[in-house]
Amino acid sequence: IPLENYRNFIIVAHIDHGKSTLSDRLLEITGVVNPHAKNSQVLDKLDVEKERGITVKAQTVSMIYHYRGEDYLLHLVDSPGHVDFRLEVSRSYASCQGAILLVDAAEGAKAQTVANFYLAYSMDLKLIPVINKIDLDTADIPRVEEQIENMFELPKDDIVHLSAKTGKNVKYLLPKIIESIPPPLNCQRDAPFRAQIVDSWYDSYLGVILLINIVDGTVQKGSKISSYRTKNKFEVKEVGIMYPDRTPFPKLVAGQVAYIIPGLKNPNDVYVGDTLYDSNFSVEPLEGFEEPKPMVFVGAFPTQGTNFKKMEESLNNLFLNDRSVTFQRATSVALGQGWRLGFLGSLHASIFKERLQKEYGEDLIITAPTVPYKIHYKDGVEQIVSNPDDFPDSLEKTKISYFSEPYVDAYMSFPKEYVGKVMQLCNANRGAQEDIQYSPTGMVFLTYSIPTAQLIDDFFGKLKGVTKGYASLDYEDAGYKPSDIYKLEILVNGEGIDALSTVLHKSEINRNAKEFVQRFKKFMRIQQFEVVMQAKANGRIVARETIHARRKDVLAKLHAADISRKKKLLARQKEGKKLLKSRGQVRIPPQAYQAFLRRQ
Ligand code: GDP
Ligand code: MG
Repeated sequence: IPLENYRNFIIVAHIDHGKSTLSDRLLEITGVVNPHAKNSQVLDKLDVEKERGITVKAQTVSMIYHYRGEDYLLHLVDSPGHVDFRLEVSRSYASCQGAILLVDAAEGAKAQTVANFYLAYSMDLKLIPVINKIDLDTADIPRVEEQIENMFELPKDDIVHLSAKTGKNVKYLLPKIIESIPPPLNCQRDAPFRAQIVDSWYDSYLGVILLINIVDGTVQKGSKISSYRTKNKFEVKEVGIMYPDRTPFPKLVAGQVAYIIPGLKNPNDVYVGDTLYDSNFSVEPLEGFEEPKPMVFVGAFPTQGTNFKKMEESLNNLFLNDRSVTFQRATSVALGQGWRLGFLGSLHASIFKERLQKEYGEDLIITAPTVPYKIHYKDGVEQIVSNPDDFPDSLEKTKISYFSEPYVDAYMSFPKEYVGKVMQLCNANRGAQEDIQYSPTGMVFLTYSIPTAQLIDDFFGKLKGVTKGYASLDYEDAGYKPSDIYKLEILVNGEGIDALSTVLHKSEINRNAKEFVQRFKKFMRIQQFEVVMQAKANGRIVARETIHARRKDVLAKLHAADISRKKKLLARQKEGKKLLKSRGQVRIPPQAYQAFLRRQ
């Protein structure tokens, strides 16, 4: 198939507007999948993706379409729809020349549609507007047409109306793609091989598999290629296209988005965004390499009796397929040896947590998520702190000049009757309004600058709450801003508990401190001696609770405890008492922290 007959495109849509359903219909029409086999949603490969209906990793499927006497090779590149994965998103867009802008006929354009539209537009992609779900009774096609015309400045006449579910009008879309999206003509087939890694995943038999966008030349089994970033050389073991799964091909050529198996066993040798090239030549690297930058951190600790080494191995296996997670060992006085994990955003963190929990159940304790804070020293040095316990106790008598915290620009859209409530919510979350636009169709598009720490504290849930579920949210990293933040430390009988430290804004210290010690108290009832719990910030005690000695409570107040755990506790209580006698101080069993953290 000549290069002129290649089309690489992406579908831009808000979540649930029908991207996966439309992809499936296109794959059926082109015969890649059998319409009767109910293996629907080919593109959502990970279990979590299927369950949550979101894409986490970039995927691509190839289709061959016969049109007016010629064969066309189409690559449908699927990218994560969520901004946590912005780097993956822009890399997928970079491998395309066109985009289908898919809008739900009942819901109209939403925040994610708008944000992704701007990205596609800024990357010069040819846009095809599509209104989906025209079969719905609630479809309001004139309203959505008007929106597309006003917001995206795309002519009404170009809009394709279809139903991905019933299949109606889907057949008109492929000719439109072929006629309006240009082929990847910036590619050179005769030049030395050059490609960009779009995504990578790990197979326990084949090792690393790479999805690449081939910009120049060709590649085949036996080709010797190099990585620009690592300077590693390797011999290609297999090449092919995703049709819809891995299908080996003799040779790949410029313009294709396809897979290669480099024969590498260690995923750490591969960097998404890196340039691969023919080892016999030296080439300019392709643009687009950027290290993923974690936005959210948690501590993870194995529960008592879990094998640390084994758990680390299992964690490692999960990381093989998600290289954007960072992790390093961390030790906590309260919870023992564990890890500090970094994620791209709160959705990413919660997906990962879900995967961990599914696979390891209750064996793992996760501490409250935190954002990375910055310490600015008087001599100009900056330090990023991702573990709240490493945050200094107070500013006094230190070499520190000030602190700063990360912010995002949050883009929200919702019907205009909720505008008052949403602004209230944003202000309560330390937000600052940056822009507001009213669409003629009754929607509001609102931009606020808010601290990332507020965003990860279930901001989206709260936003949905005040808008009866109608709001959508998208956000973008907006850098660090100076902030009045303090470390809040929890002391039990005068001793700080590292795993419970948090960093908070001044305005939130008092309320949070009170709530925290009160909640924590419930989990501390198992103590048989008097316990004083205090919360300390900026060198002052800001909240305090006392538990008086009450022997009987040892088991009675232990929440959700099973029998074996009770037995263990009794045994430990004995031990604890011995210890207490010898040391004259209170010891809190780790279970208390664990139970507390689980219920946060
Ligand atoms: P995605 O999140 O954009 O991938 O959306 P999905 O393809 O998973 O679709 C979300 C929901 O909308 C699913 O329940 C689909 O069955 C439904 N859906 C998709 N297309 C249509 C359509 O044309 N008509 C109707 N009525 N429902 C649709
Ligand atoms: Mg989907």
